[in-house]
Amino acid sequence: MAKFIVLLGLPGAGKGTQAHIISKTLNLAHISSGDIFRENLKNQTELGKLAQTYMDRGALVPDDVTIAMIQDRLSRPYCNNGALLDGFPRTPTQAKALDEMLSKTNQKIDCVPYINVPAEVLIERLSGRWSCPTCGFVYHEKFNPPIKPGICDKDQGELYQRADDKVETVKKRIDVYWEQTSPLIEYYQQNNLLLEIDGTQAIENVSNQLLDSIQRRNS
Ligand code: AMP
Repeated sequence: MAKFIVLLGLPGAGKGTQAHIISKTLNLAHISSGDIFRENLKNQTELGKLAQTYMDRGALVPDDVTIAMIQDRLSRPYCNNGALLDGFPRTPTQAKALDEMLSKTNQKIDCVPYINVPAEVLIERLSGRWSCPTCGFVYHEKFNPPIKPGICDKDQGELYQRADDKVETVKKRIDVYWEQTSPLIEYYQQNNLLLEIDGTQAIENVSNQLLDSIQRRNS
């Protein structure tokens, strides 16, 4: 049976980094709503142009557009074995839409790991972040640097810094998270799906703790 995992955490909690590791280990498709918007932006699609007006302000792209985009991804064959969702859902409306999408094919969310990191640690983390435009891998100049500065270890892509990782936009993204996304913590807790993970540890320890709690959940 296909497995669906939703990864929750404030911007900078390490969702992207962990999603790469966990999806590979568990052989799940990695669906990152932020990456899909950035890819559309790079290709200057209509979706990308629309998303940019929200992303630049650290605001959320409207629910209807985001839900349709994820629905399309989940229906593709690469999700047949399941998916790890990173950055979606981000509002209660999106969470309900996801439940409905999955229940139409008799599927459901297996668990929702929540990577918990105190807000004060996040700003330092986000401002040192560098991403690969090709594979999407995220480095940190202090905590997880590439072997060669500015170059991706995996595919030699030239690393770039996200426009919305500027301190002011980061603060706005954290505010938006508390207002619009934090109700999901309670929603999934009530549904007995939440697994809280301490995100202040080293990357490898967070991955191990994540894999451990996901696997224990299934045994
Ligand atoms: P992320 O890379 O997940 O931090 O997302 C970057 C930006 O993309 C966010 O600040 C939002 O503007 C937009 N975005 C990503 N995922 C969503 C979502 N599920 N709902 C609405 N907007 C989103």
